[in-house]
Amino acid sequence: MTSAAITLETGADGVAVATMDLPGRPTNLVNDELMTALAQVVERVAGDAAVKGLVLASAKAEFCAGGDIDRMSKWTDPREPYEASMAMKAVLRRMETLGKPVVAAIGGHALGGGLEIALACQARIVLDDPRLKLGQPEVKLGLLPGGGGTVRLSRLLGIQAALQIIGEGHDIAPAKALAMGLVTALAQDRDDLLAKARAWCLAHPKARQPWDEPKFRFPGGDSRAPALAQLWALAPSVAAARTWGNYPAVTHIMSSVFEGGLLDFDAASAVESRYFAACAMSPQSRNLIGTLWYQMGAIRKGASRPAAPPASTVRKLGVLGAGMMGAGIAYVSAKAGIEVVLLDTTQEAADRGKAYSQGLLDQALRKGRTTPAKRDALLARIRTTTAYADLAGCDLVIEAVFEDRAVKAAVTQQAEAVIGAEAVYASNTSTLPITGLAQASQRPRQFIGLHFFSPVDKMPLVEIIVGEQTDDQTLARGFDYVLQIGKTPIVVNDSRGFYTSRVFATYVMEGIAMLLEGVHPRHIEQAGLQAGMPMPPLALQDEVSLSLSLHVIEQTRKDLEAEGRTYRPHPAEAVIRRLCAAGRVGRKAGRGFYDWGDDGRRLWPGLREWYPAAAEQPPQQELIDRLMVVQANEAARCLDEGVLRSVADGNIGSILGWGFAPFHGGALQYIDAMGVQRFVARARELAARHGSRFEPAPNLVRRAASGLRLAG
Ligand code: NAD
Repeated sequence: MTSAAITLETGADGVAVATMDLPGRPTNLVNDELMTALAQVVERVAGDAAVKGLVLASAKAEFCAGGDIDRMSKWTDPREPYEASMAMKAVLRRMETLGKPVVAAIGGHALGGGLEIALACQARIVLDDPRLKLGQPEVKLGLLPGGGGTVRLSRLLGIQAALQIIGEGHDIAPAKALAMGLVTALAQDRDDLLAKARAWCLAHPKARQPWDEPKFRFPGGDSRAPALAQLWALAPSVAAARTWGNYPAVTHIMSSVFEGGLLDFDAASAVESRYFAACAMSPQSRNLIGTLWYQMGAIRKGASRPAAPPASTVRKLGVLGAGMMGAGIAYVSAKAGIEVVLLDTTQEAADRGKAYSQGLLDQALRKGRTTPAKRDALLARIRTTTAYADLAGCDLVIEAVFEDRAVKAAVTQQAEAVIGAEAVYASNTSTLPITGLAQASQRPRQFIGLHFFSPVDKMPLVEIIVGEQTDDQTLARGFDYVLQIGKTPIVVNDSRGFYTSRVFATYVMEGIAMLLEGVHPRHIEQAGLQAGMPMPPLALQDEVSLSLSLHVIEQTRKDLEAEGRTYRPHPAEAVIRRLCAAGRVGRKAGRGFYDWGDDGRRLWPGLREWYPAAAEQPPQQELIDRLMVVQANEAARCLDEGVLRSVADGNIGSILGWGFAPFHGGALQYIDAMGVQRFVARARELAARHGSRFEPAPNLVRRAASGLRLAG
């Protein structure tokens, strides 16, 4: 029998194989079409006495990638997610109580709803491929598994393991899944997969789910178990400390597992669907999906890349400067299979840069994440040198030498004397405008900014900066390279601080300005964390170093004055100067806003003498709003000035670049979610109290008047 989405074929052994193959989709997704087809398959199998068991497989590369986000995005009433979730569960429950064995033959990723389908099978046989992912990643989009995931996982693996898998949303590789009991067996190849699944059916004609056995007990006990008392006492506070209440899905997951652990299967399933509906309707989930799913998808498909130039790959890369950044760029590129020439002024410096890769790889080897052969192959792709001639044949050269115009100009000229006419030349400068640096180039059209973040091997973003003369071909090739090394590119036009550094700085500076007004430093730091930022502003400034910020401030002032423009100092500047003058330049000196020791950081007690706390402290929400509105407004200005070319780049750049509170969906989505009119009103209130930096960006004022959003 063939339905549109699932083909059913029964073999001579009496085992029916249902192959999921959602038409017109690159992957299988849990939607009405798939679930209706599955329901039909289940009834066919139930009604055919000759069929001894059912194997659920997939014709796509993935087993099933999860829920259909397009469908979820259309829900406007909480009854819709509730009913969709209950409908899915009815099919899965019928399937697992058929009275015949049902086995999932998992040859590709089984994520989210895909894993939930597999959990409703009595066995899961999985292809032994370390790249294959199993997991419940819903929490990352502000959701929880609404297809029975919280109910079945806590009954299969125990409450603690279920909370971990669902609460953290990490992928699980097959070998680990086997060890933890999530899967039944591994298969060597696709033939073996089907053979094992069929054999399992035949060997277990009376298979039942553990929770359908009369004497079923939760592994490790149900929610009342004394052994779990401590978990229930601690987990909510640990989660609150991590999320500051900004991620309701995390709380809903705990509630669903906890309550489900007190109830019978059906009641637990209904409770889960209610929490699922609450998550699906939450603004946090909408923001996360809008940005991290749709806008991220658009970016990765090339929305910010010029369409015309054909896709390119870099085969040989030159990296100039083997310091912290150059070493990292060499590593991530060699990891992506690119031949790298790593150049510095001395062989020792270049070798030190390569040793960085060795260190990372040795660590990965100790953790079992690579093999000696892979490590050696990667290292063999990095060639260290002091000779520019070795750059011959490079498709791309990335410069990461000292942040000094003269040094950068010199290396540009030396490299250009050697590389081919087609090669692209990029600078990893963090502060110097690209158009100015391109003046040292013989071919400024092939000159671009590729701004990496530190540490390069961990940070997922690269900010591509288009100089005045950079051509489309060069932009396309820069873009393709960033994808080639597995990072996410955003594309911005040239400007002081580009996009990320410019907006990020407003957060830190706002926190520092509060000190001057008598806000207690602890309140400032708390506000940053409550706002959902990964680090509080004063600690972050210590990490960045106050002397570096002062250097950038001085450079900006000089540049603006040279251009005949007026420089307006930020109130925080005076604080930074004062601390720097006292040698409190940040973490690298062991002292800044904090005293930094081996045992962690403590706010410097002298800060309260220099900036005494006012008797009356502002409401915490006022501080949180200031820290967020100032960033969002600056991001909107970047859009006004054409520094940002798209809303998606602004949102993704803010989350991946400096950790802008993801639940808001990014610095620009913060405005859309609040409503442009409300944002403008709030920004004006803050401007009246705290200064003109809060005056809403002109495009926001225009949009507020006409009721438009930033995103289309
Ligand atoms: P670094 O001081 O660690 O490394 C610079 C390296 O360049 C050194 O190894 C030095 O020997 C080498 N070098 C200097 N002059 C050279 C020359 N003429 N030829 C070849 N090599 C030369 O600096 P870094 O932190 O790696 O920064 C490098 C660049 O990346 C700077 O432009 C910086 O602004 C930018 N950047 C830094 C960060 C960061 O967080 N550190 C982030 C983004 C961008």
